[in-house]
Amino acid sequence: MTRKVILYFCAMEKSSYSVRFLRKHFASLLDAAYSPDEANTLIMILFEHHFNINRITMALNPELSLNDTEHDIIEKSVNELLTNRPVQYVIGKEVFCDMDFFVNENVLIPRPETEELVFHIKQEFEGKTDANADYEVLDIGTGSGCIAVSLAKLLSNSHITAIDISTGALEVARRNAIANHATVDFIQADILSRPQLDRTFDVIVSNPPYVCDCEKKDMRANVLDFEPSTALFVSDDDPLLFYREIVNLAQHSLKPDGTVWFEINERFGEDMVLLCRNNGFSNTSVFRDFRDKDRFIRARR
Ligand code: GLN
Repeated sequence: MTRKVILYFCAMEKSSYSVRFLRKHFASLLDAAYSPDEANTLIMILFEHHFNINRITMALNPELSLNDTEHDIIEKSVNELLTNRPVQYVIGKEVFCDMDFFVNENVLIPRPETEELVFHIKQEFEGKTDANADYEVLDIGTGSGCIAVSLAKLLSNSHITAIDISTGALEVARRNAIANHATVDFIQADILSRPQLDRTFDVIVSNPPYVCDCEKKDMRANVLDFEPSTALFVSDDDPLLFYREIVNLAQHSLKPDGTVWFEINERFGEDMVLLCRNNGFSNTSVFRDFRDKDRFIRARR
């Protein structure tokens, strides 16, 4: 039965609620924790996710209704949003590079700036001339797998390996690779314990934890209370810890002409350039993100 027919029957039920009414009702509940614009956007995300109802469906079907069960589903999601749980965890999804990624509290929600990192790498590959070569790519701290899976889809002639320390994150990343029909080799390893890898790479990419503990005070509860802190935070005393280890690993795991690509904290662009230079990398460039912040570093050996 199509959605339209189901909704027609729902509209016939005595206890049905009009979608237009519910949209206003739940948006006003969300006003307790969100701005009116955010509240409206969130309600529409829930309608679309749970019932495939978007603005157009609503405009074309002013009589659209939800039955008791459907009402309860929306109510449950609204209550979760009122605890500041990010909507991406509530619906279990974020779109990244035009693909759907399943997310839960074991992984960071993919950010739009990280999409830019993927596009930089794709662009670099487009400049490579040897169409017959097979390129090896390593993603360190893969989380949801968003970088690894996107690169597997976007780069031809490439083999992608992805590392994470977290069992829960690797479960999510594997699920995302399967759902998006991407081939990625996943390895459970702690980058800080200097894992031995059985091959060398043309590209090593990482978006490691880079938010300093001292920056927590400026962050919103939806991030602090729900996203995995091990994927986000580093101690104020050693904010480049992960980058240092990765640059170290690159000494023996990067091919002679290979590149490393990092997402970075905008405060450490210059320190990162120094770190790369001091470890024998040349051609170090900093790139800004769409918010005009120093966000990515590329270094070539
Ligand atoms: N960009 C993320 C944030 O600001 C941080 C990602 C990271 O630590 N790697 O929340």
